[in-house]
Amino acid sequence: MTYDYDVIILGSGPAGFSCAMQSSKFDKKVLIVEANDEHLGGTWINKGTVPSKALREAAKSIQKFHRQFGDERGRKPYERFKMDDLLQYKRSILESKNQKVKNDLIKNEIDTARGWGKIIDKNTIQVKDHFDKVTTYKTRNILVSTGGSFSTPDLFSINHSNILDYESVLNLTHIPRRLVIVGNGIISFEYATIFSALGTRVTILADRQDMLPFLDKEIETQVVNVVNSSTIQMFKNVELQHVTYNKLRTCTEVGFKSGSSETNRLQVVETEHVLFVGNTSPNTTNIGLENCDVDLDDEGHIVVDKNFRSSSQHIYAAGDVIGFPAQAAASFVQGRLAACAMFDKQSHNLDGSIPYAIYSIPEISAIGLTEEDANNQGIDVTVGRAYYSNITQADINQAEVGLLKLVFQTDNLKLLGVHIIGENAADLIHLGQSVMSSNGNIRYFMEHVINYPSYTEAYRVAAFNGLNRVYKAGTKYKKILDRTND
Ligand SMILES: Cc1cc2nc3c(=O)[nH]c(=O)nc-3n(C[C@H](O)[C@H](O)[C@H](O)COP(=O)(O)OP(=O)(O)OC[C@H]3O[C@@H](n4cnc5c(N)ncnc54)[C@H](O)[C@@H]3O)c2cc1C
Repeated sequence: MTYDYDVIILGSGPAGFSCAMQSSKFDKKVLIVEANDEHLGGTWINKGTVPSKALREAAKSIQKFHRQFGDERGRKPYERFKMDDLLQYKRSILESKNQKVKNDLIKNEIDTARGWGKIIDKNTIQVKDHFDKVTTYKTRNILVSTGGSFSTPDLFSINHSNILDYESVLNLTHIPRRLVIVGNGIISFEYATIFSALGTRVTILADRQDMLPFLDKEIETQVVNVVNSSTIQMFKNVELQHVTYNKLRTCTEVGFKSGSSETNRLQVVETEHVLFVGNTSPNTTNIGLENCDVDLDDEGHIVVDKNFRSSSQHIYAAGDVIGFPAQAAASFVQGRLAACAMFDKQSHNLDGSIPYAIYSIPEISAIGLTEEDANNQGIDVTVGRAYYSNITQADINQAEVGLLKLVFQTDNLKLLGVHIIGENAADLIHLGQSVMSSNGNIRYFMEHVINYPSYTEAYRVAAFNGLNRVYKAGTKYKKILDRTND
């Protein structure tokens, strides 16, 4: 059989893009099919990661400026700044990122086809373009990287005017004074802190007890402190009753019952806007998976092995479509590793801990075991803490809210987990990651010179704090510093 391509990729998000780039470096002929007729780059550039972070950066700068210099007339940020000014920054970043993706694809001679891609059999893809013209291609391999979609609400509909979703919230023309966020999880929490930094009074209505259940308990306590000292109010175990527009009062009313309230009575919040953040599900329907026996799990994700190969030979999958961790960060690596596997190029496995970051204000990031995980697994661990209030760089930046926590094995000081809330957490985590990936222990942070002032200093402070705890528990310092067991 003759093939048009060595690999055809469905979806141009981070998983598809990185698979395409890596495959082209192996001198393979690549076609990316993208259903979005305006943009390449997927949720990563156009709907999620980059746009929300661009807004966050603008909100952070405004908050910092207000904290340091105030406003001579005591105005809130929403009285001083227009949403349009903040989004200008987002637009320019999106334009440059979109252009960069296009240029990279052209430079690496990667073909693109705009339209809906469907698998006909394990070597055939059909693309229906926006004029309903169908083109068929033959390929040796297929990568499915079609991402995921958010659920829509049952009780009301999103009109993109007063009731928004995670995309239309980025088209607001002004900074709202009141915002109700309906939804759990990272995206709800990120947007809550972003708008709170802009002075908006935010109400989060979460239908679960734990909004971020995977956090280390001490980091969770810090999150609660952040919420309590902000303009955010959070209700848990919420049952939504109604979302209606009140013409007389020109506001939207959100009625709900919260399991946490003693009487579980009906409560009503008046708001300018509602932001709905639904649950995600993989884009695995209507793409022809049934034509080639690709196994799905109970939630519809494509099941893959450690090389991102599905149950059907020559069909690979990467990114949100395979489920956890469903982050752009991981999708980039998965797409590249899928390319290595399909063209028999030696590579590493994505074993070990994957870090995550929550781009709230302040940031949260973690890798490895929490203290609770380690205790549950019966591992004898000690923790070391560094509060940002003791870190000079945080003082200078007036960013004293924060904690870096190390979890390490008591007998040999091996680092098992790092949990951070505070400025630069998403960058800081990678020092912990590299010590952990080389099976290192917390002596690293004591034996190396760490720039001063810097946030990284928190590692040194936390390491000494942890060692003191080991010492107080009865282990002699000489033994703690003894390297013979390393
Ligand atoms: C608001 C928000 C904030 C986020 N913030 C972060 C963050 O800070 N850090 C982080 O790491 N991750 C973040 N994420 C998650 C991140 O965006 C996703 O994990 C990542 O984009 C997934 O990449 P992907 O390649 O699997 O799919 P996607 O980026 O979703 O791309 C899939 C592409 O496939 C296309 N497609 C679908 N079906 C077809 C078809 N049949 N034919 C052709 N094309 C098709 C779609 O149009 C889309 O362009 C965020 C997500 C959101 C929504």
